[in-house]
Amino acid sequence: MRDLILGIVDFREQHLPVLAERFKALSEGQSPDTLFITCADSRVVPNLLLSTDPGDLFTMRNVGNLIPPSSADGISTGDLSEASAVEYAVSVLKVRTIVVCGHSGCGAMKAVLDPDMTAGAHNLARWLYHADAAAFRLAQDGPLDAARPPHDQLSQLNVLSQIDHLASYPIVRERVAKGLLQLIGWWFDIATGDMHAWRERDRRFVLIDRAFAESAPIGPSAADLPASTRTGGASSGKG
Ligand SMILES: [Zn+2]
Repeated sequence: MRDLILGIVDFREQHLPVLAERFKALSEGQSPDTLFITCADSRVVPNLLLSTDPGDLFTMRNVGNLIPPSSADGISTGDLSEASAVEYAVSVLKVRTIVVCGHSGCGAMKAVLDPDMTAGAHNLARWLYHADAAAFRLAQDGPLDAARPPHDQLSQLNVLSQIDHLASYPIVRERVAKGLLQLIGWWFDIATGDMHAWRERDRRFVLIDRAFAESAPIGPSAADLPASTRTGGASSGKG
């Protein structure tokens, strides 16, 4: 705890002077371009990994970066928290991009593969039900990258499954179809510090490096989105 308090003092003394004007401007409101959905894991640090500043990312985190899918009438079939974050980001903030970011060594994915890990943790066990589609996908279709351990194979497929879940919400699907919103899948490798992006045409996650950044289109091509999100047309927007 003392480390956290000293961290606040360090922030006040070292970083706040540089950011003071930005915070003052942000006190009037926020207009982030991106909803960033990722795991609660302490090793995934969005603002560090993306070099983003206050106001840049509207962030939603939970165990396993899961989004309970929508029913036909647009209501979450699970907890309302995730759907609320999606609705606020899409309808109020009008973000142009939603990123679902999974990661290596995810405890949630390990627990999906080994239900004994959640013995006695009834809420967690029920929550992880929302990763079952990914587990089914892994069992049926096999991994995207067979060199990865099983929990990482599941984690990569889970990114795609959660994008499917996002696309089950009418407000998301409609904005994607109109080219107002793009859905992106990323996967972070903790051991190397590398972020990877899903590339549909290659059916794999590819390293995000300088070459990727320079070759990537400004808006997403339909080929870079999971097939399930492409119904109704390609999306466009800031990439
Ligand atoms: Zn995780």
